[in-house]
Amino acid sequence: MDERGDFKGKRVVVMGLGRFGGGAGTARFFARAGAHTIVTDKADAEKLAGSLRQLEGLEIEYHLGGHCDSDFKESDLIVVNPAVPDDSPWLQMARANGIAITTEMNLFFERCPAPIIGITGSNGKSTTTAMIHAVVSCGYRAWLGGNIGGESLLARVEEIGPEDRVVLELSSFQLERLDETGRCPQVAVVTNISPNHLDRHGTMANYVRAKQVILRHQTADDYAVLCGQEDSLRDWAGLAKGNVVWYPADEAELEGIELVVPGRHNRINAAAALAVGRLMGVDESRARKALLGFKGLPHRLEFVAEKDGVRYYNDSIATTPESVMVAIDAFDEPKTIILGGYDKKISFEPLAEKLAGRVEQVVLLGQVRDQIERAILKARDKGNTLLPHIQLADGFEQAVGLAREVSRPGGVVLMSPACASYDMFSNFQQRGEIFRTLVNCF
Ligand code: ADP
Repeated sequence: MDERGDFKGKRVVVMGLGRFGGGAGTARFFARAGAHTIVTDKADAEKLAGSLRQLEGLEIEYHLGGHCDSDFKESDLIVVNPAVPDDSPWLQMARANGIAITTEMNLFFERCPAPIIGITGSNGKSTTTAMIHAVVSCGYRAWLGGNIGGESLLARVEEIGPEDRVVLELSSFQLERLDETGRCPQVAVVTNISPNHLDRHGTMANYVRAKQVILRHQTADDYAVLCGQEDSLRDWAGLAKGNVVWYPADEAELEGIELVVPGRHNRINAAAALAVGRLMGVDESRARKALLGFKGLPHRLEFVAEKDGVRYYNDSIATTPESVMVAIDAFDEPKTIILGGYDKKISFEPLAEKLAGRVEQVVLLGQVRDQIERAILKARDKGNTLLPHIQLADGFEQAVGLAREVSRPGGVVLMSPACASYDMFSNFQQRGEIFRTLVNCF
């Protein structure tokens, strides 16, 4: 198979369909290309029902509820979902048998005829990606995809033209494997870097290395668009082979950005979008208008309802302590925060110190409940005053009920948990939806 791939009659295994159809676009692409397409997933057909519906009518063989040795011994190509770790025994088996391994994103980069704007970072990726898409759409037919979800761009790559622009959110897992292609986005935007996903990357150095792939194979004509307010990105400029653009240009630029979504962090995200818009020659006043029309993404400081004078916000996507710190800064009102969830092995001490004087109440829950409580008590022992009152909850519904009990009119309740949701929910979306439902039932 050459790089663009003549897949007719080849045995291609799509590993990981996912309950939200993450692998469905890849499977569709190969089925249409005439490959003998096999979809395998450790989940069974019942769990994958929604994703399987998206593939109805296509000639695909399914190996569900577990993987088969033969797929990793006798295929021509394995397309692996970003959720599968590199040290998976199945991938090791494939490597031992000399089978090529790739990803949907790699296949897309190898085929996309349009310039790609890639966005990565530890926080703010999706919002910045959506804002950049809104701005670039003012001047081009712009496609939105990657880690932000939605439709698979690989399945639609034939429709993309060289004059279009593609805006892709890229996770550290997608980037890690993109390295093998020697390709990079022509415009690489990096929002910030702080510890995340260390359960999978092992060390911060590995995580940073994975993120830096976004610049690694750029050329002298390409652009690195970096957030100048992040000390952690200072030495990234040295890695860039092309042009470096820092955003925001200055404080005055930030002050001048008008948005309906809350918080300084969103003005910083918008500054990234304006910087990219300028590189693409998009009319500045149209770009600013598009940003003003940006209503935000679900589960990111999403306003849910006002009940008894208290405003409730769903920030379920806030799965790191840094995102919660950002949420704290986005509101001047008295705050109650629901915190806790799955243990990603990240320290809560900086967050605990940030709570002092800024947050009235915290309701703690999940696997890390006691760990966060200890971090708050440690912050108190270190001399921090005005630490929040702590409420401990045994479950999510109880946590939301406690937050309602302790908050007062004029205040806000933020469900901004600083943790992933896997200990109690299938994903952050489900956690956010349950929060909305509980609040709307008050
Ligand atoms: P990601 O895709 O990286 O998870 P999102 O855009 O979905 O990021 O935003 C997740 C949360 O991260 C938001 O709710 C907000 O609290 C926080 N956040 C957004 N933008 C920034 C930023 N520029 N810097 C720090 N935190 C941010």
